[in-house]
Amino acid sequence: MKQKKLLYTGKAKSVYHTDVKGTLIVEFRDDITAFDGGRKDTLKNKGSYNAGVSAFFFSCLEKNGVKTHFLEMLDGNRMAVRELSMIPLEVIVRNLAAGSIVRNYPFREGMPLKSPVIVIDYKDDSRHDPMLNDDLIVALKLATPAELMKIKAIALKINTILSALLAKQGITLVDFKMEFGRQGKTIYLGDEISMDSMRLWDKKTGESLDKDVYRFNKGDVMATYNRVAARITKRPKDATPKKKAAAPKKASKRTRQKFHNT
Ligand code: 5GP
Repeated sequence: MKQKKLLYTGKAKSVYHTDVKGTLIVEFRDDITAFDGGRKDTLKNKGSYNAGVSAFFFSCLEKNGVKTHFLEMLDGNRMAVRELSMIPLEVIVRNLAAGSIVRNYPFREGMPLKSPVIVIDYKDDSRHDPMLNDDLIVALKLATPAELMKIKAIALKINTILSALLAKQGITLVDFKMEFGRQGKTIYLGDEISMDSMRLWDKKTGESLDKDVYRFNKGDVMATYNRVAARITKRPKDATPKKKAAAPKKASKRTRQKFHNT
């Protein structure tokens, strides 16, 4: 398969056309951002850790009957995917209270939610991804009521599968974000599921194993991503990098409060 023209470039991934009709290539770059792009860094190997974990999750989900855009890995950073018409929704499933729902509602951090809570945001950086409700989604013609029902059912199924898979590795799936797309009338899971888009806590220590390490300067991000990727996919850890990565710049308190966690 030949990589062709760039179709789209996001904050951490680029999407390319290919010479195969209906197939695109997603490249996971080493860029990492937070607070609506208010903070940016490039961290060596980050792309491959996220690509590896995403591919692993997509394969598990497919085996469990969830339709995803994943076709195959081409190399450490590049994934061949089914071309979808993406729906601009960020579908978040939460099992424990953390992040924006603790900031915006009277939940205590780490409070278990009786049943998973689905929150859907409008994917629009210029508006800081505002939260939607079902009526707004239908009024904006982002999805039909039937599609919305289907998306929520798939999201809950994915949550059940991934929560069980991660629990076996001693990891709690606190919350995660998904994006969906259509091909004809079929809804597929698109985008990625990786440490950038999930909150993962070590069951024993409560340690963050995800992008919160970067967002809130909780430690060495790449050492965490390497460790957690190895733990999830059960591959041996890379050799420890000799040079310690420079600590990324701190975002101002105001920026941290204003934007939520992209
Ligand atoms: P929160 O609403 O608490 O900021 O985020 C909830 C979950 O969804 C977290 O796991 C977070 O990483 C993920 N999430 C929310 N918005 C985005 C986004 O714009 N990009 C990515 N990659 N993940 C997001």
